[in-house]
Amino acid sequence: MKNLPFTKQNIECWSQNYPTPFYVYDEAGIRKCVTDLYEAFSWNKGFKEYFAVKATPTPAILRLLNELGCGTDCASIPELVLSQKSGINGKNIIFTSNETTVEEYKAALNCGAIINLDDITHIEFLEKIAPLPDTICCRYNPGKFNITNDIMGHLHDTKFGMTHEQILDAFAILKSKGVKHFGIHSMLASCSLVEEYYPRLAKKLFKFALEIKEKLDINVEFIDLSGGIGIPYKPTEEPVDIFAIGDGVRKMYEEIVEPAGLEIALFTEMGRYITGPYGYLVTKALHYKHIYKEYIGVDASCCDLMRPAMYGAYHHISVMGKENEKAIGKFDVVGSLCENNDKFAVERELPHVEIGDYLTIHDAGAHGHSMGYNYNGKLRCAELMLKPDGQIQPIRRAQSMEDYFATLDIDPEFK
Ligand SMILES: *Cc1c(COP(=O)(O)O)cnc(C)c1O
Repeated sequence: MKNLPFTKQNIECWSQNYPTPFYVYDEAGIRKCVTDLYEAFSWNKGFKEYFAVKATPTPAILRLLNELGCGTDCASIPELVLSQKSGINGKNIIFTSNETTVEEYKAALNCGAIINLDDITHIEFLEKIAPLPDTICCRYNPGKFNITNDIMGHLHDTKFGMTHEQILDAFAILKSKGVKHFGIHSMLASCSLVEEYYPRLAKKLFKFALEIKEKLDINVEFIDLSGGIGIPYKPTEEPVDIFAIGDGVRKMYEEIVEPAGLEIALFTEMGRYITGPYGYLVTKALHYKHIYKEYIGVDASCCDLMRPAMYGAYHHISVMGKENEKAIGKFDVVGSLCENNDKFAVERELPHVEIGDYLTIHDAGAHGHSMGYNYNGKLRCAELMLKPDGQIQPIRRAQSMEDYFATLDIDPEFK
């Protein structure tokens, strides 16, 4: 069974002001997660988490993370603006983009973010825009790596990063052009529950840093292990032990970096791990349908959470007030889109669901609301923050029809 930081009574009370569907985030859960992460890497001077904004681009969440010492990882101008409006500026932002526009680089340079180059050709591209900044990071794609999974695919097929030789060439060029501070970034997994992932990635990057020192006499000052740490979506899966991960990386550091007399700050850009388990999509059962299968129709749709429809991802579902009741059968839990993949669960064992029951969809805090869209004229739902003292706070209102029609203001009927 999965824990819930709220009850059916809470939902009944909140839904009077905030009709379902809505997202709720558990502030206490996020706080503990970030505090533990910093503790696990406290041995590394300069450790910093740059939260991947795309996971949960909500200012209240970003402000909370800023307060806890995190920066952000951005890939677009709106993400830069969200960071700045949340109090995150300058080198507390890493701009890890790809297929970047001139305007995006300009905006990132203007706010003083660390630029993470996705390709060697971007050196020239960037130089045409402005003088190169003092600090540059380059994204590395080693082509082969033995801890990888389906979402990322095989590294030869992934569009991100530069090859080994290109990184060496890029650093040599950047050094000759006056760049002073260097970092390497690499993201080789997505949603990995393998605790060896970060230590093995760190080992590879630490060795690369030594090679760069030897061949180019450049001190790599920071290494960005990026995101990719997974969360247990299924009740049968175990969460990773972040302290074991921090320790595993420390061993590699002591084995490789320290004997070489180098000092390297470690960065992470976790998204899913930080907010994923602490966000919930709450929806209401509207209809029950019995045809060739049993269906429970709810008021949320994959416009609110597309991971199940997009990746067949498992999200656990609790029927509120019936958390301890036995399953009575298998049901498809479906939304209202005119699309047959609009299903939150397929043949899921659930207790008896009555019309009006609230269903909580777990682990929706990252890549959940942020992936939402407006297909079928579905309006985006609200986001709420459950404060550690039990208060509920709206942090994003639901989209209105006026919001939805806002870009039609060029049409006289919508003015
Ligand atoms: C998506 C992304 C992340 C965050 O990934 P998670 O799986 O949510 O941890 C971090 N860095 C980059 C560059 C990304 O694209």
